[in-house]
Order: sequence, then structure tokens, then C-alpha cells
Amino acid sequence: MSRTYQAVHQVSRPIGPARAENFAFVEDELPPLTAGTVLVENVYLSVDPYMREAMDEGHWELNTPLEGRAIGRVIESRTPELAVGDLVFHRRAWRTHAVLTPAQLRPLPAIEGVPVSTHLSLLGGTGLSAYVGLTRVLRLQPGESVFISAAAGGVGTAAGQFARLLGAGRIVGSAGSAAKVAHLTERAGFDAAFDYHDGPVAELLRAAAPEGIDTFFDNVGGDHLEGALEVLRDHGRIAWCGAVAQYSTEPPAAPRNLYDVVGKSLRLEGFLVREHLDAQQELTDFLVPHLRSGRVRAHETVVAGFENVVTAFLSMLGGANIGKMLVQTADLG
Ligand code: NAP
Repeated sequence: MSRTYQAVHQVSRPIGPARAENFAFVEDELPPLTAGTVLVENVYLSVDPYMREAMDEGHWELNTPLEGRAIGRVIESRTPELAVGDLVFHRRAWRTHAVLTPAQLRPLPAIEGVPVSTHLSLLGGTGLSAYVGLTRVLRLQPGESVFISAAAGGVGTAAGQFARLLGAGRIVGSAGSAAKVAHLTERAGFDAAFDYHDGPVAELLRAAAPEGIDTFFDNVGGDHLEGALEVLRDHGRIAWCGAVAQYSTEPPAAPRNLYDVVGKSLRLEGFLVREHLDAQQELTDFLVPHLRSGRVRAHETVVAGFENVVTAFLSMLGGANIGKMLVQTADLG
């Protein structure tokens, strides 16, 4: 008996911001469940800024199911390695179901006191990016100040909370609305925050960090990098994690003061989380006690319904999320 599933395909390349018409929901037949495979129903899907870059020529193929990080539940199993009900992490997101082999997935341990969605936020690639950016790239030292851009997002709220646990001094964040600024200082543990729409980043940052900043965790690039270069103290460090300001547009002219890297003896280092997967266990050991105690919490915006996955992705790029943007496509059961 053939069975169908729903998947999202990219059907055209965007020029500028991505739009709903660049995608299509497609119903298709599932491949047969053969020996050694499982049928997984997706429960949580991750939508991420890098996916906007993946929509450009040379990345995602058109008219084929898209990839991304997902948590699913095994609903049929033809392998002794996995049982019905097991939760698994895999990369066949943007669809309701997937037929997978054990090599294509990672079983998720049940961690008491930790919600399952945390495996896509603080304990997933999002949290890992924040953790390695702070510990391996910035090498943040106790007492040092840190400025975090896109601070109210998934990586940003993780970085702010982890910086506190690592003993940071002043923690400053930037975000795109007054509500996000309030969230950062009232609920995410930031000492100060500003809305980057309120003026030049350098001015707003200097007001929030009058003594300058020792380190910068950059998720935005462009005007944020330029502003931070101006305010960083001599021998400051920058971990360049992302450049969300330019994923939908031509690269901005800023930073126009890149030569400050020399003048101030700064260190600017980019990184990709996929080169630091060996830090996953270290992150888990570091974080789980704090998740259990409630000292750290996963800030998430969870959109319900597979039919809303494209909307969730587009609205995340537009800043609608606080914390990690996830889509819940089925009950946990
Ligand atoms: P996120 O911050 O949860 O969501 C994206 C946010 O970007 C939006 O909420 C929006 O917030 C902000 N934004 C959009 N356009 C902007 C603009 N022009 N200027 C300033 N802010 C803008 O996403 P995330 O998953 O946590 O990712 C954050 C960054 O980390 C991204 O750059 C991503 O590519 C990067 N990243 C890198 C790695 C790596 O391996 N290096 C891994 C994961 C993520 P506002 O309302 O504040 O504008």
C-alpha cells in the first residue's frame, strides 16, 4: 500500500528577500519501508538563517524536498536498532515524514527535566554555535565584557546566558525592537540592550558600554561589525558567527573601518559550528545541570502546524522570533 507525505520544495530563486511563492507544498509517495529502515514522523523542524543563503544558485536544488534539522518520532520500525516511539534527530526537515536508516539519524536521549525541543535550540547546533563561539573562538575570560548582535534570536539568547555562566562582566545585546530589548534585560540576563533602529550602532553601543567592550559575538555583520570595531578596546576579540544583515541583499559597504583590526591589535575570527561537533558532549555536560536548576532556559518561538513552516521561516528572517524559531508539526505523543 502506498503512503503519502507532505514536503516543501523550493520552486524558484529569490532576488532579494525570500517570498512564499519561492516555495511549494508537495504531496508525494513515501519510499517503501524496507528491512533496516524506519518511518519517522517529524515533530519539530528548525528554520535557520543559513537557509536563505541555501536558496541562492548553487545550493538547494529546485523542486526537491528541502533539508534541515529535525526531531522526529519513529512510528514504524524494520530495524532492531530502533523501536516505535523513539525520538531521533535527523536532517530531513521541511517534510511531515521520512524513511531513514539508522546511519541517517541520531537517537535522542531522554534527559529528565529538559524539554525535547531543546535538542534543536540550546543543546542543538544553535546552542553549540554560541558555546564554541564564546569558549573556543573568543576564549571569553571571567570579568570580560561581551557585545552580542541579533541577541534576541536563538544563538543570541544562548550566547548571553552562556556568557553569564562563564563569568562574563558586562553583557550587552542588540535587537530589532523595543519588546526584544525588554526581553533581553528582563528575561535573558543581559545587563544592557538597544534597538539598532534607534541610531548608529557605535553610538548606541558606546552608551550601553561606556568603558568599551572586550569581545564581540557577531551574528549580523555590516553596520554591527563597523560599530563594534569602533567601540572595541585594544586587543579585543571578535567571533564572527553570522551575517544575517546580508543574506537577502548585496553585501553592505560596512564595515568601513576594518583597518581598526590593525590599529587596535584586534583578533577577528570566523567559525562554522560544523567544525566543532566534537564539543557537543562538553556542551551537554556544561548545560544540563543549569537547565535542570532553571538557571538557564531555552528561549524559543514555536509555530504550530506543518502548513506554517514557510511562514515561520520568512518571519524569522524578518525578526518575528524571540529565541530559536521552531515549527511543531506533530504532537510529541
Ligand atoms: P535568529 O537570530 O534566531 O534569527 C534571525 C534574526 O536576525 C531575526 O530574528 C532578526 O532579529 C535578525 N535580523 C534579520 N535581519 C537583520 C538585519 N538586517 N540586521 C540585524 N538583525 C537582523 O537566528 P539564529 O539561528 O540564532 O542565527 C543567528 C546568526 O548566527 C545568523 O547569522 C546565522 O547565520 C548564524 N549562525 C552561524 C552558525 C555558524 O556555524 N557560524 C551556526 C548557526 C547560526 P531582529 O528583530 O533583532 O532584527
